[in-house]
Amino acid sequence: MIHIDRDKCIGCGECVDACIFGSMSLKDNYPSISEDCRLCGACAKICQYNAIIIKRKKKKKTTDWKGVLIFGEQRDGKILEVVYELLGKGKTLADKLNESLLCVVLGNSVKGVNDLKFYGADEIHYFNNNILEMFNCEIYSEIISNFVKNIKPSIFLIGATSIGRELGPRIAAKLKTGLTADCTDLEINKEGLLLQTRPAFGGNIMASIICPFSRPQMATVRPKVMKKMEKKKGGGSVINHHVNAESIKSRIITLREMRYNNHSDIGSADIIVSGGLGLGKKEGFILLQELADELNGVIAASRPAVDAGWADPTVQVGMSGKVVQPHLYIACGISGAVQHRVGMETSDIIVAINKDERAPIFDIADFGIVTDLYDFLPKFIQNLKKTKNDNIVS
Ligand SMILES: Cc1cc2nc3c(=O)[nH]c(=O)nc-3n(C[C@H](O)[C@H](O)[C@H](O)COP(=O)(O)OP(=O)(O)OC[C@H]3O[C@@H](n4cnc5c(N)ncnc54)[C@H](O)[C@@H]3O)c2cc1C
Ligand code: SF4
Ligand code: SF4
Repeated sequence: MIHIDRDKCIGCGECVDACIFGSMSLKDNYPSISEDCRLCGACAKICQYNAIIIKRKKKKKTTDWKGVLIFGEQRDGKILEVVYELLGKGKTLADKLNESLLCVVLGNSVKGVNDLKFYGADEIHYFNNNILEMFNCEIYSEIISNFVKNIKPSIFLIGATSIGRELGPRIAAKLKTGLTADCTDLEINKEGLLLQTRPAFGGNIMASIICPFSRPQMATVRPKVMKKMEKKKGGGSVINHHVNAESIKSRIITLREMRYNNHSDIGSADIIVSGGLGLGKKEGFILLQELADELNGVIAASRPAVDAGWADPTVQVGMSGKVVQPHLYIACGISGAVQHRVGMETSDIIVAINKDERAPIFDIADFGIVTDLYDFLPKFIQNLKKTKNDNIVS
């Protein structure tokens, strides 16, 4: 809460200039504060007459919150890959803090719950009930937030999937804590706080965010950003939780779940042939599809290529698209802007075809081909076909 002590204020207006958010103005010689005040305190700091009073809520005690919790998201009874990626990162964070790694799974007869201990989890908390088979945000967030209040983890990580993006903010609001969405890196700083790094201002800077006063420190991480942990021997245990189905009420009724997908899943593809604005026309993607077919891969695109209507939005790679991590990523006519790179730079092998030798894509490419793609690709595809045929004959 912020208010002005009119007995002390002399109406100098210095606080108005100090507010970079434009939340202050002088009215009848006194500062007036609008509703969008961020309580940053800059105005109070500048006022020499101590006329601005900011009252903050008491800080929560954070020391009794311990452990790193991962949301073990499942679909159709199968644990998602992003869970193993988060367990990998969670293990590193938990080891650094000397705390346990926990995982919470909600579902109905979920396969592989027991195996999560082989991926670093010390405790797997399992809520098994047929009402949890399909995701329901109200029910899931109610169960998870109550569970979190009980076990008090210091960190809670959720995959930035469609479910995670809906669930994370609702749980954070119930727990009255912060949430950093779409993190690309997570570290523990000197004070033992979670340093949550994510692109900001359109990807032009990387912002590191901390959550010093509330618990848990919550973050979502996109699939394929963190490396999956290798399967190892583990001594973790599964703790089954009772779900009182009668007491759980939801205003959401799922009548029928329909799945529609006639596009390839670039998120799990091993080989991706990706096209950008350098293709110059929609037909360029026919050429890329031919190459992808020869390599048993799938096609993807940069945002401008999608915006131009040359490719489907589900195959967009980058900051506002998907993060991919294939074994081979072939970038054709893509300049390599940072917003594209964040979606593909962890690919094992990157090949770039671009006629501009200064294109930034070459900074991260393992193999660069400086040429017009329309000169190169048809010959390359022909050679591939020929090599395949020769191998079949011999
Ligand atoms: C908030 C925000 C989010 C964004 N999110 C994304 C995102 O998710 N994904 C994304 O991709 N972008 C995203 N962008 C856009 C991004 O900044 C770039 O504009 C975009 O990635 C550039 O796409 P491009 O490489 O296809 O096109 P360009 O930058 O125009 O590059 C085309 C390249 O093709 C080369 N070329 C041209 N003709 C040929 C030819 N005949 N043969 C070979 N090479 C040729 C050129 O030399 C050039 O390097 C975002 C931007 C913002 C601000
Ligand atoms: S800086 Fe202090 S004294 Fe000056 S207008 Fe603001 S509140 Fe009043
Ligand atoms: S607390 Fe910060 S945002 Fe609020 S009025 Fe003062 S300077 Fe502006």
